[in-house]
Amino acid sequence: MAFDIDMIKKLYNNFGSRIAAARQATGKPLTLTEKILYAHLWQGDATTAYARGEDYVEFAPDRVAMQDATAQMALLQFMQAGRTKVAVPSTVHCDHLIQAEVGAVADLSKAKTQNKEVYDFLASVSNKYGIGFWKPGAGIIHQVVLEQYAFPGGMMIGTDSHTVNAGGLGIIAIGVGGADACDVMAGLPWELKFPKLIGVKLTGKLSGWTASKDIILKVAGILTVKGGTGAILEYFGDGATSLSCTGKGTICNMGAEIGATTSIFGYDAKMGEYLRGTGRVEVADGADVIAEHLTGDPEVYINPEQYFDQVIEINLSELEPHINGPFTPDLAWPISKFAEAVKVNGWPETLEVGLIGSCTNSSYEDITRAASVAKQATDNGFKARAEFTITPGSEQVRYTVERDGYLDTFEKMGGVVLANACGPCIGQWARHSTDPNRKNSIVTSYNRNFSKRNDGNPNTHAFVASPEITTALAIAGSLTFNPLTDYLTNDKGEKFKLEEPLGIEMPQKGFAVEDAGFQSPAEDGSKVEVLVSPTSDRLQILEPFKAWEGTDLKGLKLLIKAKGKCTTDHISMAGPWLKFRGHLDNISNNMLIGALNFFNEKTDTVKNQLTGEYGSVPAVQRAYKAAGVGSIVVGDENYGEGSSREHAAMEPRFLGVRAVLVKSFARIHETNLKKQGMLGLTFADKEDYNKILEDDSIDIIGLTGFTPGKQLQLVLNHADGTIDTIYVNHTYNEQQIEWFKAGAALNIIRREFESNK
Ligand code: SF4
Repeated sequence: MAFDIDMIKKLYNNFGSRIAAARQATGKPLTLTEKILYAHLWQGDATTAYARGEDYVEFAPDRVAMQDATAQMALLQFMQAGRTKVAVPSTVHCDHLIQAEVGAVADLSKAKTQNKEVYDFLASVSNKYGIGFWKPGAGIIHQVVLEQYAFPGGMMIGTDSHTVNAGGLGIIAIGVGGADACDVMAGLPWELKFPKLIGVKLTGKLSGWTASKDIILKVAGILTVKGGTGAILEYFGDGATSLSCTGKGTICNMGAEIGATTSIFGYDAKMGEYLRGTGRVEVADGADVIAEHLTGDPEVYINPEQYFDQVIEINLSELEPHINGPFTPDLAWPISKFAEAVKVNGWPETLEVGLIGSCTNSSYEDITRAASVAKQATDNGFKARAEFTITPGSEQVRYTVERDGYLDTFEKMGGVVLANACGPCIGQWARHSTDPNRKNSIVTSYNRNFSKRNDGNPNTHAFVASPEITTALAIAGSLTFNPLTDYLTNDKGEKFKLEEPLGIEMPQKGFAVEDAGFQSPAEDGSKVEVLVSPTSDRLQILEPFKAWEGTDLKGLKLLIKAKGKCTTDHISMAGPWLKFRGHLDNISNNMLIGALNFFNEKTDTVKNQLTGEYGSVPAVQRAYKAAGVGSIVVGDENYGEGSSREHAAMEPRFLGVRAVLVKSFARIHETNLKKQGMLGLTFADKEDYNKILEDDSIDIIGLTGFTPGKQLQLVLNHADGTIDTIYVNHTYNEQQIEWFKAGAALNIIRREFESNK
């Protein structure tokens, strides 16, 4: 479970000189974000990339973290790299697959049975390749990372969008797709588009009912769900240093809801306290030595407008508690305006369930503040009028708050403690509802509240608030209750007003845990067998893709000409398909089923040129594959936008599609196609999209001279015997052309690794 202190020391030893070089290269003071990015350049030379303002730059992250759902394909791919161990410290966390139904013990036990084959695979593959494995029940990835691994000045990637949570401990932490995680574990650089910089200056101090959560709820209201796109938010100012480390984590966590690449705070005394309190004295000592480098330069914070693309200022002394929602996290309501908004908008006033905890808000401070509210209620003869659940973020937090009596307080109030897992936050919630068609309201201290996110029910109005406000509203059983001004009335008709919550940042007796749920990997994993049943329908060991045959590709059948938007969701749908994410053959049955066929304006209905009949896209493609016939997919603008799901590139490759030709690509998807050994091409003249006909057989000419910057030629053989010849562009560099020739990037890595043995 140990963090890698040698790696951290090495980074810290070089940190100052890298920053000095970066300052010299740019000729200006640096934000914290820039310092950490410079310190992690793959080539280590600050005069390159960023100094020249290049878009995409290669970095060397220090760590990788994976949650159990996304880890499956990342690790199945990693197994193909031929390495004996991961190149950087990595961990797997079993948190997403546990369904909340009756309570922690029963739910966890059921999940272990239902997901046994996935857990067995993840445990064994982790054991073999030097990856730390956090068992089901050990906790939610981001809370565990904050407690165990995050460190100031570092850089990590994680296969989950809320990886950004770790920014609360001063690390640049970014959510990525499984293919990126696989690359970094295999020892390759990781590419990131240089972010915009948004500075958030916090002044004043939180007090009373206002919590860290309210800062990000306010920021979400200001920036909206799109306002952080392509940006890193850097928080600074007296208000920032006054916040607990875990409070900073809450703020960074929900930065994902405004689309931010990540968010970060500079190293300060609160982070030092948290590191020491969670058993990482050496990290705190090391950070203290280079503390000046682990925050932005003073000039930056004195004149932030000169150094950030945008600056926001929030006075914490004036900040009200907020409740955001429903259906979107940026609909921000100060609590003084919320009751009216509920009435005006006709949202259901009765609060049916209050849910606290999750990776976003389950620190010791959060739990103690919420418990101080709960205790006042029980002391005055109240029980929660709404259902109430508590999701601890880790076994360490759960054990400690149980030891200190807080879980008991919640249970007396009528609360149910759920497993240390995502549960309702990711829709793993068997909610007890009498009528799913009834409009209803819930409040959570989670982060996302899009329609159907928590219980799959579009009639559920989900709101987001701090744990203490959620607890107060659950006690009242009403959305319109304002604990700052309103009185509660108990069953005897007695009136009572809740006092302001009181929290404790760090447990006075220290954190404790009996079994944290961690499995160390084997020192020598060579004899460890990776457990995958050949009959499993959830997991399948990958076979390496075949190398290019060395000739031009002729007679490719048009599989589909997609019209309009075609995101990775259209290419590889989520929902029920996610259970097959570790089984490439099975999940390939969703390939392109959401794409609109240009020729008949229908989804999942394309012509099989071998039979002339129409069928589903995967079925037609499987027919081509069985007949040994290659195919081509044609698309519109920004093809492959959306989440960086590697399945959207792997499925066509697996089923025998040879090329994807579009008007333009979303860049990440284009790179994913290249990594899988596919041809990703764009029309040199976008009007040529109109020349592609439904019965075309297409030849790709020029592959034997495939060279960076040189166009390829496509011959469109139409069914009526006529021919069109068009030119297409590509963005392959020398290395990516080698990926194509080898059949996939991983085939090259394996070859290189084997030749160096
Ligand atoms: S608790 Fe929610 S936000 Fe956190 S990792 Fe799990 S699903 Fe994601």
